[in-house]
Amino acid sequence: MQKLLAANWKMYKTREQAESWARSMIQALPPQGLSGRSVLVFPPATAIAAVAQVFSGHPSLSVGGQNFYPGTEGAFTGEISVEMLRDAGAQWVLAGHSERRHIMGEADALVAQKVLFALEHGLRVMLCIGETLEEREAGKLTEVLERQLGAVFSAAGKLDAASLAGRFAVAYEPVWAIGTGKVAGTAEVAEAHAVVRRLLESFAGESRIPVLYGGSVKPANAGAIVHLDNVDGLLVGGASLDPQSFLQIVSA
Ligand code: PEP
Repeated sequence: MQKLLAANWKMYKTREQAESWARSMIQALPPQGLSGRSVLVFPPATAIAAVAQVFSGHPSLSVGGQNFYPGTEGAFTGEISVEMLRDAGAQWVLAGHSERRHIMGEADALVAQKVLFALEHGLRVMLCIGETLEEREAGKLTEVLERQLGAVFSAAGKLDAASLAGRFAVAYEPVWAIGTGKVAGTAEVAEAHAVVRRLLESFAGESRIPVLYGGSVKPANAGAIVHLDNVDGLLVGGASLDPQSFLQIVSA
């Protein structure tokens, strides 16, 4: 499976900064493109179109939205629709990011609703799941991941590996490792990814669903994580903001 290297810019970068980052990426890529790797960037909504325009026509580069409201259109002040994201050039969307679960209060049921809505409306979805430190210390890793994945698959009823092929990815992101500088050790990552893989097989049947790791990934630790079994890529926050740092991660 190709490795997918994803950058989540959170609430950083103006259009100009985003465009300059995207140009640096294009300039640094080998002329024949990336081999065995693809890059996906989640800019803030205001910069999606700028990045999509720079990436346009490049087969290994794509763009996604960080958030959306699961409705076609209507009186939802401050929200953005999947159609608007697609219109701006997004092919992917994030759902269930821990900052949305824990700061914005998005519950499993809403996350599931968003995943299904985006898939039904033609966007690819990267579903983020992960346990808090308290949950991990209480030995609840499997329980939490099963609950978060189960919410999506039981709401859908009909999502299987074949219908999801190429349209769905999972990012395992332990909440205690996001933006904290605390990196999960390779044994912890391997253990959690084996759990996610097993759960995906039981929920979706045979699994070709990519499972990415996220949580304080940097150039120094990316190589050790991305080559582990059951790790199909990385979702990178802070260390993706600088194009040189992200490029090192892409080639790790
Ligand atoms: C993220 O935002 O998904 C993330 C993993 O952030 P960071 O790399 O900064 O921990």
